[in-house]
Amino acid sequence: MSNQELETVIGLEVHVELSTNSKAFCRCSTVFGAPPNTQVCPVCLGLPGGLPVLNKKALEYAVLAGLALNCQIEPSCRFDRKNYFYPDLPNAFQISQADQPVARNGYIDLVVKGQERRIRINRVHLEEDAGKLVHSGDDIAAAATSLVDLNRAGVPLIEIVSEPDIRSPEEARLYLTKLKTVLQYIDVSDCKMEEGSLRCDANLSVRPRGSSVYGTKTEIKNMNSFRAVFRGLSFEEERQKEAIVAGQEIIQETRHWDEARGVTVGMRTKEEANDYRYFPDPNLPPVVIDRQWVEESKASLPELPDARFDRLVTEHNLPTYDAEVLTASRSVADFFDDCIRLYPDAKAVSNWIMSEVLRLLNIEGKEIQDTPLTPEHVAKVLQLIHDGTISGRIAKDVFEETFHSGRDPEAIVKERGLVQISDTDELSRLVAEVVAANPKVVEDYRNGKDKALGYLVGQVMKATRGKANPQMVNKLLREKL
Ligand SMILES: [Zn+2]
Repeated sequence: MSNQELETVIGLEVHVELSTNSKAFCRCSTVFGAPPNTQVCPVCLGLPGGLPVLNKKALEYAVLAGLALNCQIEPSCRFDRKNYFYPDLPNAFQISQADQPVARNGYIDLVVKGQERRIRINRVHLEEDAGKLVHSGDDIAAAATSLVDLNRAGVPLIEIVSEPDIRSPEEARLYLTKLKTVLQYIDVSDCKMEEGSLRCDANLSVRPRGSSVYGTKTEIKNMNSFRAVFRGLSFEEERQKEAIVAGQEIIQETRHWDEARGVTVGMRTKEEANDYRYFPDPNLPPVVIDRQWVEESKASLPELPDARFDRLVTEHNLPTYDAEVLTASRSVADFFDDCIRLYPDAKAVSNWIMSEVLRLLNIEGKEIQDTPLTPEHVAKVLQLIHDGTISGRIAKDVFEETFHSGRDPEAIVKERGLVQISDTDELSRLVAEVVAANPKVVEDYRNGKDKALGYLVGQVMKATRGKANPQMVNKLLREKL
């Protein structure tokens, strides 16, 4: 059997920290980065007598996520204790949901290499986060001491479990990207992987192409960025394929992604794996999920990425590439919609956002809402170009200043004397000068070298510091020659 005859099967479990103000079962704050153990109480410390009470907001966010991921919301859900011992888990159990989750049977649609793919979602359930260990050395092995910070203990999470429908590391990356976009659209999490608010474990196995039986899977943990997910899964896929081609057996085990070495390492085999002994939490009664409340939540959902993509393509005639880029972030998509209300040329707006706005945001590492930029600014710049007041080249400079300062582009143009020179007499004079000063180039052009014209246009632009109207310069030069 060769590598090509093997097919990869991946399922993802994604944990998402919900951005509620208080924890899942107590009223402690969830703000990230507070001094250790300052956001704790008897409930989340697991002290005797502490009684958990479900945060309704956490359930609401889980319901919203379920709806946005095309799931059915269950009529009721129940909390269970997942029993295991770990130093950052003060109760020695985690409150989770075993067989009665909030939502089931959803999906995410993707386009992978031009092909539409539907990845089914098995379930969305609610649980609480554990605390955090801070090791004194570079890693666990080198640490002399470990400290426990329980600020994160009890922060609400949703776990989104996919079916094993993903067929490549690239597909896994696209699934995660889409999942993150959807969750950000509905504003239930900031999804910052670097702050741990979005975490991903993966199951991966390989099998002969066309087989309906799954191969032995391994679980890969500790992939802390989208890049790490892609690299970790690529490594594991290759490792398993090589082993199978060589006639070796895959051991069912949990493997750790070692980012620095670029390899997965075996951690524990299934035989030593935990038996969590789930049982219903006696302190938390089952929760009936009110149908009307679900309907209201559904009605409150914003336009989601897929619907938005369709609208940009059908209503505004944008190429699918543009629609994809613009809808990848809700803030950018909202900004686009606001811009075309002021300046209805959708393609011109799209081009400007995709090139100038996203370029500057990327350089600054900012989101649009963290800048002084407004849709009015974009509309005005496009209007100035359209009117011929400034050239596209000058517009970029003006816009960059607006982007940083929030100043009115028209005011910048006036103040810096950047109004485009469209005066035929003045331009004719400049064209004549340039022609006279470049006899060799002029001759080249007359001998059929079209490129020479570009050089002459460039000379006129240079003489006017970019202010000449390039179309007019072109026209005048052709006439002159
Ligand atoms: Zn608490």
